[in-house]
Amino acid sequence: MASVKLQQVTKRYSAKRGDVWAVRDLSIDVADREFMVLVGPSGCGKTTALRLTAGLESLDGGSIEIGGSVVDEVAPKDRDIAMVFQDYALYPHMTVFKNMAFGLKMRGAGRAEIRRSVDEAARLLNIEGLLERKPSALSGGECQRVALGRAIVRRPRVFLFDEPLSNLDAQLRTQMRTEIKELHRKLETTIVYVTHDQEEAMTLGDRIAVMQDGAIRQCDTPLEVYQRPSSRFVAGFIGSPTMNFLEGRLAMERESPLFVGEAIRVALPNSLRTTVAEAVGSAVSLGVRPEHLSVEGARDGTTDGSAGLTGMGEMTVHAVEPLGNATNLHLLTSRGDRLLARGGSVVSVSVGQTVSAGLDAGHVHLFSSDGQGERLS
Ligand code: ATP
Repeated sequence: MASVKLQQVTKRYSAKRGDVWAVRDLSIDVADREFMVLVGPSGCGKTTALRLTAGLESLDGGSIEIGGSVVDEVAPKDRDIAMVFQDYALYPHMTVFKNMAFGLKMRGAGRAEIRRSVDEAARLLNIEGLLERKPSALSGGECQRVALGRAIVRRPRVFLFDEPLSNLDAQLRTQMRTEIKELHRKLETTIVYVTHDQEEAMTLGDRIAVMQDGAIRQCDTPLEVYQRPSSRFVAGFIGSPTMNFLEGRLAMERESPLFVGEAIRVALPNSLRTTVAEAVGSAVSLGVRPEHLSVEGARDGTTDGSAGLTGMGEMTVHAVEPLGNATNLHLLTSRGDRLLARGGSVVSVSVGQTVSAGLDAGHVHLFSSDGQGERLS
């Protein structure tokens, strides 16, 4: 067990069209025994950050500490970490037992120790019955368990996971997610886990670090990131269905804060009065999650879907998608902006209908329209 600290880490690759900054001035502190998830869109530098930590890539700048010691010059095999890859990387000609035992054998462990460690890991992962099989006789989920087992037997101080579940089908992914979380609890080890799947990040991480263009945009607990995204990018990336955004300006009307878009005016809560008063006239994006947007007739067949909400005027229902436990309602404003509202499991609205929409003003987010789209409130 150990902490992991990346300080202003930079990695640049040379390419035909100029240099690619895969990771730029990236700093992160992962506490001992913490489950940290690096999440972000494809190409944002997640894998590079992980490979730098493992020592599989050399640094162009910055420094990395594991367990309080700088490891910049330490070879990967001496960093006491284990990495689990997306493609499992099992040896096809070896049995599961031999695959799991390989790392220990290379380190000169005795037969009895190898047997004990492999049996213990196999028990933990429920693969005791597979030890004599070859990888070709395993399902994807079983291969993934063996890959985990191979990492566990070494009892490393830190686990690094690179999209370990992306080759599995949706059901198995959910099951393995639970197992990995349980494993973390049992092993009490530090984990740095890379994924592009925001739902996986939310469910697994003690904290999640949202990356974009080689840098971390926000690092916090999943709920804090969801409820108080620090920028428009983070707000749009975390959450499914994704947050709605409307473009407009801030205004004050009779001492009250207001968002004025082309088709929609929204009375903002008084808690935003100071923020708005200081930025009257500024161009902003107003963000609202689908579950905080509702329309008349959208809550389980009743007619008060927008009761108690701040009115947004009339909209046209463009599409209705029943999901069983909820309904997605696609709406069009008079100016043609598309919005998504989450309704109850049964709704009494239909396509083409004009409905009055409302939002829960306590859950609106304001982001600057300039620069990185920083949060204003
Ligand atoms: P994905 O989710 O698609 O795996 P990622 O967030 O893990 O993406 P990285 O693989 O770290 O992203 O890559 C970050 C950037 O660095 C990308 O633009 C990628 O094309 C570039 N890159 C990565 N490895 C190399 C390399 N060996 N040579 C040149 N460019 C590279």
